[in-house]
Amino acid sequence: MKPPKLTLGEFQVFLLSDGVWRNDGGCMFGIVPRVLWERDHPADERNRVRLGLTCPLVIRGREAILVDTGIGNRLAQDEREAFGHGEGRLFEGLRALGMEPGDITHVVLSHLHFDHSGGVVRRAVSNSLRPAFPKARYLVQRGEYETARSGANVRLRAAYRHVPECFDPLAGALELLDGCAEVISGVSAVVTAGHTKDHQVITVKTPDGEGFAHLADIVPTRSHLKPAWNQAYDLDPLRTMEAKAWLLEQAIAGRWWVTFAHDDQLLAARIGRMADGRLAMSERIAMAEGE
Ligand SMILES: [Zn+2]
Repeated sequence: MKPPKLTLGEFQVFLLSDGVWRNDGGCMFGIVPRVLWERDHPADERNRVRLGLTCPLVIRGREAILVDTGIGNRLAQDEREAFGHGEGRLFEGLRALGMEPGDITHVVLSHLHFDHSGGVVRRAVSNSLRPAFPKARYLVQRGEYETARSGANVRLRAAYRHVPECFDPLAGALELLDGCAEVISGVSAVVTAGHTKDHQVITVKTPDGEGFAHLADIVPTRSHLKPAWNQAYDLDPLRTMEAKAWLLEQAIAGRWWVTFAHDDQLLAARIGRMADGRLAMSERIAMAEGE
């Protein structure tokens, strides 16, 4: 089935997904008590909640910019079991659009946790790992890459242990960004920090004032629209909250579409403000049944 599409001026944004996965609910909702988060995100017997892996594909002419890559197919069997994820579905989505991995010109990574960057490589039948998008440039913040490679920080070591295996095969295709950058005209990488020190989100803006933002791990699910609902992984939750407030204000003012990287029901929504000041979703794009 074709992935849902947003049209913004000369851009088309396809809402691809690498499928669903599961992760610990406590990790996903941080200080929020389970009795609150489990109403909308029921946990299984291992305390895991069902999550999505939304990866927008921004197209203008021959330029095809994939934002994040999901988990991909590189996990070992025990990890597949732990996270409830198998081969990944990103390539299926591309095929449904009549595209091939070689058509992707840019891959922009919000940060290098495995659920966003694991799909930069593809495990072949021979078990070797090759770049998943052989003609793409891979863009990430320099600080994110250096933190991920250094291994110096004990808290972060496990979060980045996949990085050598995923990024060594990319060699010359990797492009390190020093702060906010324009990927192509109208498409920007905007550094937010918060979730990681150099976490970035992607915005698309047209000359007519239409907009789209992939908020990555600043607003990973619809529940994280609430100011204090943040992940336990966040290195600087106060920065996450500041970035969230600032990005959502722009999204409301500009009537932008925003995508939720990890919601298991909604791929994207437009956000508005109700009379009492609370946020509400005015339009939504749901994940297809059977994902
Ligand atoms: Zn994530």
